[in-house]
Amino acid sequence: MTSLSSLTTIRVGGTPKEYFVAQTHAELLALTEKLWAGSEDWVVLGGGSNVVFADDVSSLSVLHIKTKGIEDLGSGRVRVQAGQDWSEFVLYACNKGWAGIESLAGIPGTVGAAPVQNIGAYGQEVSTTVKSLEFLDYKTGEIQILSNDDCSFSYRDSVFKQGKQGVITWVEFQFGEESSMSLLTKANEVIQQRSAKGMVLDSQDHDTWSCGSFFTNPIVSETFARTLPVEAPQWEVDNDMVKLSAAWLIEHAGLSKGFRLGNSGATISSKHALAITNRGNASSEQILELARFIQTQVSNNFGINLVPEPNLIGF
Ligand SMILES: Cc1cc2nc3c(=O)[nH]c(=O)nc-3n(C[C@H](O)[C@H](O)[C@H](O)COP(=O)(O)OP(=O)(O)OC[C@H]3O[C@@H](n4cnc5c(N)ncnc54)[C@H](O)[C@@H]3O)c2cc1C
Repeated sequence: MTSLSSLTTIRVGGTPKEYFVAQTHAELLALTEKLWAGSEDWVVLGGGSNVVFADDVSSLSVLHIKTKGIEDLGSGRVRVQAGQDWSEFVLYACNKGWAGIESLAGIPGTVGAAPVQNIGAYGQEVSTTVKSLEFLDYKTGEIQILSNDDCSFSYRDSVFKQGKQGVITWVEFQFGEESSMSLLTKANEVIQQRSAKGMVLDSQDHDTWSCGSFFTNPIVSETFARTLPVEAPQWEVDNDMVKLSAAWLIEHAGLSKGFRLGNSGATISSKHALAITNRGNASSEQILELARFIQTQVSNNFGINLVPEPNLIGF
């Protein structure tokens, strides 16, 4: 049986009760049915880049989605199977002159997981290109085609993080058109900037043994933001709300890059204060211990509760 530490980018997590792999759309539908019939404690897994599994997951059933396929439907409409590698797909799209996701180059994971937290980086979010998706609903057992509106996308959030349980089997995108040269240039610039921050996977670099950002950037009222030091970075959102930099809050709560608790195997990345990393021998418990410590320090210093971005499973 496969240990989940070998299937996740932060490389922690124990051995589940059951593990299934879906290679085709038909297999995905059949195995999902089997999964749900046999267990209430289940999860679907893509690239494992936004999950922290507990050390003990002995009652969990896991369905690993490895379905592949890119279908050009014409006029910038493209249907992609859920298990397709996201960052490979971004480069494929840039080569084709399909515009709208070039700034999301280098983000690990799969196409099917991208809508779940509405992945975003460098001013782009996947939600602006998602036209519709196929969803197998856990509650009803039905296959549904959800429109962009049905997904209720917002900052690192969607209906799928708000309790709508099930499986995204494919995603249909609507892209704009731009020269492939300029899209590839943009994508490569982004990849370079991300690499410098340890935000592109590299098995040799422990700073990338992470889930990327461990906390979302807090969104608070302007009134509350005025109580913070003037140098705290702030970006205006709508309705008198502002977004703060979680990385700034962590560093100014006294936790510098590379910080660790005692001799724990979990540290803050040496390149980015927002990433919690595994130096090779961390347990899930150590990852969460550091996360809780960061939350406490930021709360004590600024009165802000940092919210974890990855999905914490089995704790
Ligand atoms: C180094 C690094 C950098 C990162 N940078 C960014 C960034 O810049 N911006 C950003 O937004 N994210 C970033 N991430 C987070 C992560 O890459 C994304 O959230 C990605 O979309 C997760 O994809 P995955 O296939 O690995 O999902 P997984 O980790 O396998 O799963 C994540 C969640 O989605 C669910 N899920 C997965 N597939 C499906 C499906 N087909 N249907 C329904 N539910 C599903 C899982 O059950 C789980 O709850 C980064 C992560 C790392 C490690």
